[in-house]
Amino acid sequence: MKISREILCSTCSGTGSKDGKASKPCNECNGQGIKVMLRNFGMGMYQQIRVECPDCEGKGEIIPKGKQCADCSGKKVKSEEKEFNVEIDKGVKEGKKVVFSGESDQQPGLETGDVIFVIQEKPHHLFKRTGDDLIMEKDITLIDALSGFSFKFDHLDGRPVVVEIKQGDIIKPDDLRELPQLGMPVYTRTYEHGSIFLKFNVVFPDSLSNQQMRGLRSVFTPTPQPTAEDPSERAIAQPFDRESYARRKEEEKNIITTITIIIIMKIVMKVMALEFILAILSNNGGNYKNIIFLCVFF
Ligand SMILES: [Zn+2]
Ligand SMILES: [Zn+2]
Repeated sequence: MKISREILCSTCSGTGSKDGKASKPCNECNGQGIKVMLRNFGMGMYQQIRVECPDCEGKGEIIPKGKQCADCSGKKVKSEEKEFNVEIDKGVKEGKKVVFSGESDQQPGLETGDVIFVIQEKPHHLFKRTGDDLIMEKDITLIDALSGFSFKFDHLDGRPVVVEIKQGDIIKPDDLRELPQLGMPVYTRTYEHGSIFLKFNVVFPDSLSNQQMRGLRSVFTPTPQPTAEDPSERAIAQPFDRESYARRKEEEKNIITTITIIIIMKIVMKVMALEFILAILSNNGGNYKNIIFLCVFF
């Protein structure tokens, strides 16, 4: 892996000057690289602001022109491409770090950091990795699931592998089969390998011809069935759509909620009416006209 990094200039040994002697501190900022200035707001108000020293461009030191190292133009560092040989051990797991100590950008007077490579796995079109094992999903036809079959795939290193499902080994939907020792190499024990797990998705036919149906019925033993003369009630199974069923249930729930709200409102109104009647009775003593009116109203 090639990485571009900064290294100390070898011509001037990182001093930035031609003669290799240390540079002079900047007079303007006393070698701080930063100048404190006062900003006038008017009416006798000032604000202190810190700015990069324009004389030394914030470096705090000055190498006079003509004395600058020709190789790095006084910058002390040069850009370099370095090739790192990152060895990835067999069976290494995702997130593993490969560290090259002290190989990062070099800066005069500062300790150099590390270059760290972090292993990341690329997704694969055929395999999903779980630890040392690989999972391969495979669609198969109903006839293959019932009568055995073989198929070929290219392994991670490119070598072709033929998998054989023996006759008599019936694959049911979501069944798993194991190919031992064909998975990932086990980290630090590379002579050992995990497994490949085959996960089968049995694809059923969408329709069958009359001839195919008759053929199947003649080969397999169908379950005993009620005769056409059986007097029981008949029910024909319908196709079932989950989504429209859920929608129907949701609508029913809404209707029940609405009915409940109406009933509660009616009860509340009746109680209010009763209280109103009692109030009128206690005030008027016996004016029944109002009461009759209210009873009709509610
Ligand atoms: Zn130099
Ligand atoms: Zn300065």
